[in-house]
Amino acid sequence: AIPLVVSIATERAARGGVLVKDRLALESMRTVDTVLFDKTGTLTRGEPALGDVAATGDLDEDAVLALAAAAEADSEHPLARAIVAAAADRGLDVPRAGDFSSEPGLGVTATVEGREVRVGGPRLLQETGADEAPEAAAWRDHGATVLHVLRDGRVVGALELADEVRPESAQAVRALHAQGVQVVMITGDAEAVARSVAEELGIDRWFAGVRPEDKSDRVAELQREGRKVAMVGDGVNDAPALAQADVGIAIGAGTDVAIASAGVILASDDPRSVLSVIELSRATYRKMK
Ligand code: ADP
Ligand code: MG
Repeated sequence: AIPLVVSIATERAARGGVLVKDRLALESMRTVDTVLFDKTGTLTRGEPALGDVAATGDLDEDAVLALAAAAEADSEHPLARAIVAAAADRGLDVPRAGDFSSEPGLGVTATVEGREVRVGGPRLLQETGADEAPEAAAWRDHGATVLHVLRDGRVVGALELADEVRPESAQAVRALHAQGVQVVMITGDAEAVARSVAEELGIDRWFAGVRPEDKSDRVAELQREGRKVAMVGDGVNDAPALAQADVGIAIGAGTDVAIASAGVILASDDPRSVLSVIELSRATYRKMK
């Protein structure tokens, strides 16, 4: 039979916005020694906004932005939505694109006015061997995501996208440290962006430039070190890592895929609510012993 304390505790937790899908996950949570947070949308708001635009070729800044917006028109990625919104805000004339395709963790490709336009992050530059815009390093150093815009394989400009760190994130990290729990961050974003966010939040370890399909391998790597890992994420990308973790925690609205792969679901998008799961687990299973 299901122990009564557990059902009472999970009911109380449900009222606080902690939904326990898998009782074993809740039980495991009291011995977790590492919490791995996805950066984007979990420690940050996941709502990037366009900052600066750099034009490195014969196009001006507005033309670079319009080209990027054209190529990103069909992408649902938050970075794409920020670019499209910024172009609309500026009243730019955005050409229609065709042959749209996207590669998770890399960027998008489309045909605009008969030419191939690609917009993407560090992996796109690596893959094409294209030169980085001079502004890029400084943008990354203060934590902004940098995307480059390529036309027929050449860089025509770059975009700075800033995603605000949640004000509650630093408190969550401090509270976890106080419980003796190590905090690790994982992201597909560039190393310098990860370092900037990690330093701001007091996180001592991070994995950057991780492809969506490789996130679960990083979880397994921590587990091979003997760590007991809770992974916190919200995105489609995070689902395999949530499933691999000892405790998978889907946060906020989350995507259906993330929710399906998690053992615990947090209704709130406040990263501090992870502490409630630890407390709940300890309180519940202490009573049972
Ligand atoms: P995270 O791991 O931070 O949640 P993603 O795995 O979704 O982020 O994306 C990682 C990186 O891939 C982004 O920082 C960006 O460089 C690039 N990228 C992904 N989707 C797009 C897109 N639609 N347009 C441009 N770049 C993209
Ligand atoms: Mg994410």
